[in-house]
This record gives sequence, C-alpha cells and structure tokens, in this order.
Amino acid sequence: MPLQRLTLAVTPFQQNCSLVWCGRTHAAALIDPGGELPRLRAAVAERGLDLQAIWLTHAHIDHAGGAGQLARETGRPIVGPHRGDQFWIDALAQQAQMFRFAPAEPFVPTRWLEDGDTVTLGDESLTVRHCPGHTPGHVVFHHAGSGVAFVGDVLFAGSIGRTDFPGGNHAQLLDSIRMRLWPMGDDTVFVPGHGPESTFGAERRTNPFVGDGA
Ligand SMILES: [Zn+2]
Ligand SMILES: [Zn+2]
Repeated sequence: MPLQRLTLAVTPFQQNCSLVWCGRTHAAALIDPGGELPRLRAAVAERGLDLQAIWLTHAHIDHAGGAGQLARETGRPIVGPHRGDQFWIDALAQQAQMFRFAPAEPFVPTRWLEDGDTVTLGDESLTVRHCPGHTPGHVVFHHAGSGVAFVGDVLFAGSIGRTDFPGGNHAQLLDSIRMRLWPMGDDTVFVPGHGPESTFGAERRTNPFVGDGA
C-alpha cells in the first residue's frame, strides 16, 4: 500500500483538491483545500485517516481559500507554498471579492517550502520542486515511488497555467515545466489544479504550448 490518493473538485472553479495518505499509517494531507471544507473533512473521516497537514501549491484563492479555516479548526500546519507567494496570501481578501468567493481566513504558513525540500506522510515522502511562472512561489509535489505529481496550475492536460496575473512569467513557466517536470519521467501521472489527469509523456507529445514540437 504505497501512497493513496483521491481527488475532490471544489469551489466554483472546480479546483482539484487532493487527499493523499500513507496506506500503512493512514497519515494524510490535503493538497490545496480551496473550499468546501465539510466535504473535505468528511472524505478524511470516512476513510479513518489522520489528517496531519495542509499542503499548498500556490496561494490563489481557489487553492488556498480554505487553508486558514481548516488549519484553525484542525490545529494542523500549513506547509507551503514558497515565499514568493506571500503577496498572494496577503491579497486573499481582495481575491475573494474579485472572484466572489466567501471571505478567506488569513493565515501564515507554518513552513515555507524550497526547491528540493521533502514532505512526509508516515512511510511516504514527496519531493518539492519550485515551479514559478503561474505564480512566483508555486511548488509541485512529486511522489517518485508511485510516479505521481501534484502540479497545481503549472500544467494541465492540453494546456498550461495562465501567466497574465501579477508576478506571472510565461518564459519562466515553460522553463519550470521543461526543466523540473519533464525530468520526472514520461510515465509520471500528474494531477493538475483543474480538469483531467494526464502524463508528462502525453503532454510532451501533444501539448500545443509546451510539447516537444511546440
Ligand atoms: Zn492559480
Ligand atoms: Zn487554480
């Protein structure tokens, strides 16, 4: 029983929140709890999991909007994203207004993440890669043992993240994908922030924005 996972699409933006856990110890984390906290907490409880942490890929409201409240209610740490997203955390109230989300509770991450860091759940460890471009502090979580990566809004099936927000950088995003995601291997399955899963190999073959023929 290696790393187990379940994707739950939350918020009006259908953001893919991932519940991940160690199959042996049942230690669990929620990646990007953007909202719909009762549903997320029910998914944890139904499986008898021990929620240990909240992990954030980046601080856009659809990904981080529920993190502050969930951390307060559960007493669990918020891990990530990278410090480059501090200004997006500071702007959560404005983001909520702009996108008509419920007000988000402010928070301070317990731990900022850096490229090459490790996060652990029971027996399972995931490697953190800093992948700026969509936001300056965006990170990705990679579990090499099961060949899966949680990539937030860096890469989607058939598309890539937007770079027209403050702090976005298109060239940097392409570098992040080519230099930090592709080396994880063509067989790696990725869970994007929105929409269906795919593999890096499929995207290298067919993605019009960042495929090998682009
Ligand atoms: Zn985003
Ligand atoms: Zn998003």
